[in-house]
Amino acid sequence: METKIVKAFGTQAADAPLKSLTIERREPTDKDIEIEILYCGVCHSDLHTARNDWGGTIYPAVPGHEIVGKVIKTGSAVTKLKVGDYAAVGCMVDSCRECESCKQDLEQFCINGLTGTYNGKDKYSGTQTFGGYSEKIVVDEHFVLKVPLNLNLAAVAPLLCAGITTWSPLRHWKVGKGSKVAVIGLGGLGHMAIKLAKGLGAEVTLFSRTPEKIKDALELGAQDVIISKDAEQMKSVKGKFDLIIDTVPTIHDINPYVATLHINGTLVLVGYLGGLEPILNTVPMIMGRKSVAGSLIGGIAETQEMLDFCGEHNIVSDIELIKIQDINEAYERMLKSDVHYRFVIDMASLKD
Ligand code: NAP
Ligand code: ZN
Ligand code: ZN
Repeated sequence: METKIVKAFGTQAADAPLKSLTIERREPTDKDIEIEILYCGVCHSDLHTARNDWGGTIYPAVPGHEIVGKVIKTGSAVTKLKVGDYAAVGCMVDSCRECESCKQDLEQFCINGLTGTYNGKDKYSGTQTFGGYSEKIVVDEHFVLKVPLNLNLAAVAPLLCAGITTWSPLRHWKVGKGSKVAVIGLGGLGHMAIKLAKGLGAEVTLFSRTPEKIKDALELGAQDVIISKDAEQMKSVKGKFDLIIDTVPTIHDINPYVATLHINGTLVLVGYLGGLEPILNTVPMIMGRKSVAGSLIGGIAETQEMLDFCGEHNIVSDIELIKIQDINEAYERMLKSDVHYRFVIDMASLKD
């Protein structure tokens, strides 16, 4: 397999800062699209992976799965896009395409395992995949998305993970006009959840620990903000919500939020991976037929649906554009929840 050397930014160890390095990318096969990366969003999962929070990170690791760029080369069998078109890549670059999940456009649940955009196992080279903190990426056309051209390209990037991860549960649980939706945590995922739920016609409430974010939440489209540390405020929304999207990245008590679900309501976890503490009390669930669920990004067709919806409704992420050289500081700020509301890397800075 022919490969080329590409500039990137990544880390050699869980406790090492990200710095400039080079990686190999394959030359496009007949179904591949080669993209020059213009912008890449910074997801909390990038940080989890760089620092091996979930275990299993292979080093060097090059994060980044909110990718927007320009097509610079296509394989002979590619029909989706042509050289010069804008293109996007999210959290997956491959799956088996044959299993029950793949056939239902649920590639994220591929029974034979999806290939993550980074820290996945590349089917072609057998080595790990490298993400969007890089000059170029080569991806099978099935996993490349079309970008709505009326939107700010840099602000589109976060839709590829934060957008689809919150869109998918909103669609699965059939949120529409008049639905009562709550979002826990105002970060990258949380701010997209507010915008998308509002776009679908829902009444949206934010649960946040941070009173300083109230004004922003209302401007983003929330009707109400509940400060989760305030027991009286929590009581005021008991039994209210049809769907709660929980974006909190660390272990936390979900019992107080289950109490705010309406009968038949669902709390869907998209943030934290792992065991929850304290234990979940089933009594309020049984007494109200309430559910606690999880959700993982979204399929490729659903991602395109979300991008098209954002194009029609003029929805993009609120971003702070940074240089790749600022990525380590951005991670520290993300840990302090000091992001308003997504960092996006201007990949031109990789040439500096
Ligand atoms: P983020 O920008 O850091 O936002 C997380 C927000 O959660 C914070 O802004 C904060 O909001 C709240 N929060 C943080 N620490 C908390 C704590 N200890 N207790 C309660 N609330 C806390 O992160 P993100 O990029 O949105 O990602 C969120 C999580 O989703 C990450 O774990 C990421 O790995 C995961 N993720 C999952 C999927 C999936 O497919 N399921 C996809 C992408 C990301 P307030 O200040 O408002 O409280
Ligand atoms: Zn992500
Ligand atoms: Zn599959």
